[in-house]
Amino acid sequence: MMQYEITKEKSAEYLRQAIHHMSMQDAAFHPVSYAVWYEYSSGEHARLIEEVNDLIEKEKKLNEKSTAHLFNKHIASTDTDSAKVLVERFSQVVTNITSSTEKAGQDTSQFRKSLDAWSDEIQQLDPKLGAQLGALLSDTAQMQTSMHGLQHQLEASLEEIADLKNEIVKAKQEAISDGLTGLMNRKGFDTALHQCLDTPANEDTCLLIADIDFFKKVNDSYGHLFGDKVIQAVARILKTVSGNLYTAARYGGEEFVLLLPHTSVDIAKEIAENIRRQVAAITIKNNVTQRLISNITISMGVTAYLPGESADSFITRADQALYTSKAQGRNQVTLINEELAAA
Ligand code: GH3
Ligand code: MG
Ligand code: MG
Repeated sequence: MMQYEITKEKSAEYLRQAIHHMSMQDAAFHPVSYAVWYEYSSGEHARLIEEVNDLIEKEKKLNEKSTAHLFNKHIASTDTDSAKVLVERFSQVVTNITSSTEKAGQDTSQFRKSLDAWSDEIQQLDPKLGAQLGALLSDTAQMQTSMHGLQHQLEASLEEIADLKNEIVKAKQEAISDGLTGLMNRKGFDTALHQCLDTPANEDTCLLIADIDFFKKVNDSYGHLFGDKVIQAVARILKTVSGNLYTAARYGGEEFVLLLPHTSVDIAKEIAENIRRQVAAITIKNNVTQRLISNITISMGVTAYLPGESADSFITRADQALYTSKAQGRNQVTLINEELAAA
């Protein structure tokens, strides 16, 4: 795990070393190579250092490919938060360099203008000095050109950084959402549930678990693609019901969960009944026969959080309630309230 709680002086030193290392490679000056060399310079990442040293010994310089490989293997894959910190840090560095280069560019151009103005006069007074001044002028022009080049490069790097940032945000989002329905996936839900239960004022939190009835039969009768459409239709209902208040997720194949903070069991039960009725009213066209299919039903279990209990026991009780709904004939909601849970 990478650590960034280091002093400013130290990080400035790593930065200086990183830029020095970067300038000796074939790979261009960009966030990915900066990240690799920053980590290398910090001396904390033994396996990265070892692999970099091996590569340098074998190939003398790191190219784009080997740099990207090192980044993916040792930095990006370890955790996105650290990668994000690195990218942000680099962005700041480049912004600083850009503004100081801009300033240097302005200074140079000012200097050149003054030289230009004097040049003609000096040429007339002293031709030898004039020639020297001419050389100096062309050097200055060259310096200006390379300054511009550097500036373009830095601007391109900034764009690249913005892209990288967006990619990281997107990757994080994708990691917690379900591709078929757009709902949160199980991983995202588990995080949300723990966050909710860790909040001190978590009284009146309810959990609803839902499972589509006889879904295997739906797949067998109308095909897997039709089954997918059913899952999507149920998900849409959950999304609408949850709004900004509740957290809905696809917990497994045809199983869903809904977390309801600040909601009494009575309200949670009403919401479940509402979902049950909406699902029973779903009609989807079978694209093979062109006929409308209905009779889709869902069973649910609802329970309230008991202060102090674990997320696992909360989920298990909701699951038990769901199981009861299944055993008692499906297409129904079962509630396990506090008295029943204590019994
Ligand atoms: P029950 O009423 O007891 O829940 O019966 P069931 O048939 O719904 O239960 P079971 O868990 O045996 O079957 C679930 C089926 O859901 C099995 C699996 O093939 C199907 N399934 C899981 N994920 C998907 C998916 O993403 N798309 C489709 N079309 N089917 C899926
Ligand atoms: Mg199931
Ligand atoms: Mg099922």
